[in-house]
Parts: sequence; structure tokens; C-alpha cells
Amino acid sequence: MQEWPLLCHRIIDHAATCHPDREVVTRSVEGPIHRTNYGQIRKRALKVAQRLDGDGILIGDRVATLAWNTWRHLEIWYGIMGIGAVCHTINPRLFPEQIAWIINHARDRVLLADVSFVPLLEKLASQLEFVERFVILTDCDRMPITSLRGAIAYESWIDSVNGDFAWKSFDENTAAGLCYTSGTTGNPKGVLYSHRSNVLHSLMIAQADVIGLSCNDTVLPVVPLFHANSWGLAFHAPMVGSKIVFPGAKLDGASVYELLRDEKVTFTAGVPTVWLMLQQHMESNNLRLPALRQLRIGGAAPPPTMIEAFERMGIAATQGWGMTEMGPVGSMGALKHPFEKLTGAERIAQLSSQGVAPFLVEMKITDDSGERLPHDGRAFGRLKVRGASVVKAYYGLDDRVLDKEGYFDTGDVATIDEHAYMRIADRSKDVIKSGGEWISSIEIENVVTAHPSVLEAAAIAVSHPKWGERPLLIVQLKPGLAATKTDILSFLEGKIAKWWMPDDVVIDSIPHTATGKIRKSELRERYRNHSLPGTSDSSGNS
Ligand code: ADP
Repeated sequence: MQEWPLLCHRIIDHAATCHPDREVVTRSVEGPIHRTNYGQIRKRALKVAQRLDGDGILIGDRVATLAWNTWRHLEIWYGIMGIGAVCHTINPRLFPEQIAWIINHARDRVLLADVSFVPLLEKLASQLEFVERFVILTDCDRMPITSLRGAIAYESWIDSVNGDFAWKSFDENTAAGLCYTSGTTGNPKGVLYSHRSNVLHSLMIAQADVIGLSCNDTVLPVVPLFHANSWGLAFHAPMVGSKIVFPGAKLDGASVYELLRDEKVTFTAGVPTVWLMLQQHMESNNLRLPALRQLRIGGAAPPPTMIEAFERMGIAATQGWGMTEMGPVGSMGALKHPFEKLTGAERIAQLSSQGVAPFLVEMKITDDSGERLPHDGRAFGRLKVRGASVVKAYYGLDDRVLDKEGYFDTGDVATIDEHAYMRIADRSKDVIKSGGEWISSIEIENVVTAHPSVLEAAAIAVSHPKWGERPLLIVQLKPGLAATKTDILSFLEGKIAKWWMPDDVVIDSIPHTATGKIRKSELRERYRNHSLPGTSDSSGNS
């Protein structure tokens, strides 16, 4: 059979050949709605490639983006990869010093940024040792006056070439993209995707029970291109010719709702914090989205009440689990036979599992010494994975990250049941170890968020003289609603094991990371010296 290297730019070639008029719509960072199509995206991506090539960017060089989801970001994405350079997507929500650290660690040579990030970059510019040129994603008219090195408006930059250019050829194992994990502890770590892993990942998520978009779908990726390889959507949508709607910088409930409604979006994906805003906006204004067939939730565990609320509004809400290190999809919560027939609470409970590994991902759970644990739905263990788009080593680090069977330790603690459904109990660093037994903070949080006054909740470990650690529950209430510690505890009673009951409940605000996860490290720090009331046996293991 033929040798046909799996190269990312072949995806945009295919979209431009078979779906040239399929629209790519953006709420631009400058404001107005912008419309283009795959034919145009490819043409302009070729100009990006030609200009980078002309500027001396070589195979393997890193070119960075600091940008929201827009059509320009998609052009750059393919333009960089098409000459064998590495598209390094930076998360603008990270702390400025982390952004500078990442840019230097990656040795980015060119940085393309939305106009709104110019002030931030001006502050960091003197620390950015390797950046030769800043390209600002706007046209000449909107180009701000700036001191940034070699700054040029993107439209002028690509207009300086004629687009008469061909993609470069190289091996499919060449690096295509670079994405850093958010590094809640220590420095962020880089994951370098290859052309091959990206193409295989796109084919993997194109399976019907994973994401399975079609040419008749309209997809709104709320998940940013800079968060974990855009969960694969920047490849999957053009691969099958789905229309794309990019939300730009506005991710509040009203703005996302308006785009979903106006563009008749059929599929959308994002983290729970974004969906909480949409849910509240839709519930308080009694709104519906008849065209939306699937809302995907990932990046953190969604409370079951959220899945239920969207189902009530006629929207199928399914969760996926994954991580930057996996390309990123690792499992999807589709209901397989016989669970697809479930209704009511049983259905919601099943949908609250993190789902089943698709073909190209293999999973196991082990104890601390690496021994495999049974897939019986009860044994908690370290979740380990291997597959066609799973990391082998972190970028620029020599540390070995695979076990002797070639599995990567995800840092998550999970159960896997006899039907292959996986459930995340915790990040291993967030797990609460009471009297040597693990308490799942996610399960406590899932139960308490069903309380009508609770907006969000976080269970964390606090040290305890007898049990080692005990759970402290932090609850953020919905605006204008009230609940006391006693209300919360009586709501939990009977719904979780007695020894999992939190020793204390506090009402407080809940901080989030740059990728929308609850920032538990900050909460642990905030409550490090919290003294738990009493140490009676009734609050401990029995
Ligand atoms: P970052 O590390 O930059 O925040 P990732 O998205 O790669 O970004 O984080 C991966 C982690 O997110 C997983 O290891 C897991 O702990 C958590 N996660 C992702 N999806 C889910 C989910 N559906 N349920 C629970 N946890 C999830």
C-alpha cells in the first residue's frame, strides 16, 4: 500500500477541496461577526507559511500564539504546522511570569498575539530572550502604536507575500504543536504533539461515540485552541467539513447563548465553569436551543445537577475526560448498551461517569507499587494510559514518565467497572486520605452541588490528629441564596458514606485555575491552619 504520511496540513487541504464553502464564523476580538470559509482559511494559511518561511523559520522552530479562538488563529495554526514549524499555543490566563517562563522555555522565535494582549507583552518583552518579532492579529487600521520588537499588523504581514507556495514535506513524526500544562505546582510542563499523533487523534475522536461530527454539524469550540490542543476540534471539524463558530474573547452565558442560537450550533464543548454561566443564563431567562444536539463537558468533573439541567432543557450533555498529555481525549461518557435505555436518576448517575476509552487509548488502574487492580467499579487506583496520542516524555525534560509496560501515570485516581466505564475520584494530590482509606472529593462535591443554594463546592484535606486527614467542605452559594453548615451537612446525610461526611463546612468563594479547574492548592493553603471542630469517633472511619 502507499506511503501517505499523516500530516496536519492535509486536513485543511481536504477541507478546502471537499468543503471549500463551509463557513468559519467568528465573534472577532475587535467586536463584529466575521465570516470566511475553509477555502479562504487554506489560502491565508499558505500565506502564513510562506511569510514564516521567508522570515527564516525552519522545521522544528517554535512559533507562538497568544490568542482567543478566531479564524486568524486557525489560519496560523495550519500555516505554522505546514512548514514543519511548531505551533506553540499559550494560555493567556496564566500568570504573566508563567507566560514569560513558557515563552523562554519553548524558545519561541515569533509570537502572534491578539491586540488585547499588547500591553501584557510590552511589560514582558524585555524578558523574552528569543522572540524576534511580534505579529499583532489585526489590520493596519486597528494596529496600536507599540514598542514591541518588529511589531507588525497580521494583515500587512501576510499581504507582503503572494500565497504562491506549497507546504513542505517531512516525516509524520515531526513535531506539530506544543502545549504546556497549567502547572498548578511547579513550572508548567510542555507536551509536544506530532503530526501523526494529531491526525490519529482526530480520527479517534471522529468515532461516533467519542465526538463524531459530520459535514452537517455546526461546532462551537468554547474550549480554546490553547487549552489541551483544542480537544482536537481544530482538526476534527475541518477533517469532516463541519461549520465552525469561534466565540473570540467573550465566554459569558449571554454571549455564548447568542452565538449558539444565531448560528444554529449543533455541537459545543467546554469546561464546567463556562457551562455553569450558560445554564444560569438559560434557566433565568427560560431559554431553549433547539438546534443544539450535544454539549460536551470536560477538563473537570461536571456536577450531575448540570448534566440534569441541560437534559431538562432538551440538550444531551455528555462528559469527556482527558489531559494535555493525551492529545487530549482519553474517554467519553456515551451511554452504551444497555445503559442507553436508562431514565431519571439512574441515567444521570451513568452520565456522571467519565466514560469509556475509545480505540487508540488503553487504560489500567494500579496500586502504589504498580500492581494492576481489578476493573470491578470498587477498587480505586492510579489511572495509567497508553495509546497513539499519549505523551512519552515532557518537552525538554529527560525524566522517564512511562512504566515498564509503557503506560503514563495520569495523576488521577479512578475506578474502572466491568463495563469499562471509568470514574475519576480525584487528582492523586487532591485525594483525602482518612485513616489510610481514600475519600473521593469529587463524589462529595457532586452530591452537595444538588443543594438548591449551592453554586460550587470543593472538598479538601485538612490534617487531623487521629485520622491523618479529614474532609473540609468549602461551599460557594448562589447569589442571593442562603444555607448554613447544618443545612449542608443534613443535605449530605445518607447520600455519602458516614465516614466521608465533612468534619466542617465553610461558606467562601472558590478560585479557579487558568483552565477552569477548582484551584485546590490555593484552598489548601487558605485553610492550612483550619481547626476542625471536635475529634469524635462519629466523624472518623468506622
Ligand atoms: P491543565 O493540567 O493544564 O489544567 P488538562 O486539561 O490537561 O489541563 O488537565 C487534565 C486533568 O483534568 C485530568 O488529569 C483530570 O484530573 C482533569 N479532568 C479532565 N477532564 C475531567 C473530567 N471529565 N472529570 C474529572 N476530571 C477531569
